[in-house]
Amino acid sequence: MAALALSAPSAQTTITPDPNKYTPAQDVQIGREAADEARRQLPMLDDDRVDEYVEDVGEELVEAIPAELRHAGFRYTFDVVNMREINAFALPGGPMFLNRGMIEAATTEAEMAGVMAHEIAHVALRHGTAQASKAHTPAVLGTIGQIIGGVLGGTVGGVVGLGSQIGATAWITKYTREYERQADLLGAQIMARVGYDPRAMASMFQTIEQQGGRGGPEWLSSHPNPGNRAAAINQEAAMLRVQGNANTGQFASVRQRLAGMPSASTAEQVARGQARGDRRPAGTGGRAVVRVDPPARQLRPHRPASFLRVSVPANWDAVSSDDGGVTYAPEGAFFEADGRTAFTHGVQFGVAQGSGNLQRDTQQLVQSLARSNPDLRSGGSIRRDTVGGRQGLTAPLSNVSDVTGQREYVALSTTRLRDGSLLYMVGVAPQSEAGTYETAFRRVRQSLQIADR
Ligand SMILES: [Zn+2]
Repeated sequence: MAALALSAPSAQTTITPDPNKYTPAQDVQIGREAADEARRQLPMLDDDRVDEYVEDVGEELVEAIPAELRHAGFRYTFDVVNMREINAFALPGGPMFLNRGMIEAATTEAEMAGVMAHEIAHVALRHGTAQASKAHTPAVLGTIGQIIGGVLGGTVGGVVGLGSQIGATAWITKYTREYERQADLLGAQIMARVGYDPRAMASMFQTIEQQGGRGGPEWLSSHPNPGNRAAAINQEAAMLRVQGNANTGQFASVRQRLAGMPSASTAEQVARGQARGDRRPAGTGGRAVVRVDPPARQLRPHRPASFLRVSVPANWDAVSSDDGGVTYAPEGAFFEADGRTAFTHGVQFGVAQGSGNLQRDTQQLVQSLARSNPDLRSGGSIRRDTVGGRQGLTAPLSNVSDVTGQREYVALSTTRLRDGSLLYMVGVAPQSEAGTYETAFRRVRQSLQIADR
């Protein structure tokens, strides 16, 4: 671990970045994909005057990143999101999104710059991937849905509500208190080097805390107060010399321009898909990168219905589907938007109408699955199987995920219930992970107990 000798005044806190298993190029790649998705899903303000202003402020701040923390390939970009909530987030490698509500809540340019400097510090210190490096499984990355979920906040409905139901906490938007402390201090140092009084960052954070209402604004859940936040920033500020005056003098006119525009969308409106702009439903952009924990070896018992018992990998949670079925999926693998649901890893149970003829009913079910999944294909021959202790069938299928756009492995198993209807289990995993998941699906299938009468 290389200690950093930050240039400029000697009397400032030295910040040493944590070890990181990712390369800076991976930061760039992760951030670029997430930013593309964010631009598709969030209502962008798209006002040249406001965008240019925020870019001007941002680019000045970027110039002040200490040389030791500059990474080739990082590209800091600044987009204004037409949302009312006081929020902002930055992605690995540099893309930053600033809510219009954040600009409107600031009373000075320096306050707005304070939030931006803090976000830039997270990027420069590579906190997102450093945090992922500490996870037990190095490949655990927050999904795009989770990132957007973090922005939209605890809104019910859409990918967000489900994200929080399944305990999704995106590492990208949820920093540790130690990382918050580092971003506060490095952010303060950056501000001083550009010519903003770092104490404005402290006052902006106080505004955010005061305007929180119940639960506080989403920004705080992503950027928790490391303790005595304002005091710590002001203490650092006292050691720093503010070099020059960065104020562009345009803050007031930009604020005035915003005040003359139609009001911004709320997170709830965005989550419900009511915001203006051409957005694709969350999770169905067809290009999301989804990486989840592998199935836990340990199984946990569930009751998807009164007559069913089943054990699934302990790191899968239950989510209800719109059609009355129940899906068990690992964190980050379930998506819902505009009344549609999709999952990339896990199993779904459901009951379909049947004639009592297992073979024919299974074929009909495949046909009805194909109506909502046009790329569904047979992946081999249907074989007899034991499902819930009964005679059943298992059909390997293949599909193209409408979340990731990648080929996925689908294992359909069916058996008859006493009333003639068809009980089915659909296992889904990316084709590249089919081997691992086939084992999990088989264990789930073997654990199934049916007690209908
Ligand atoms: Zn932070």
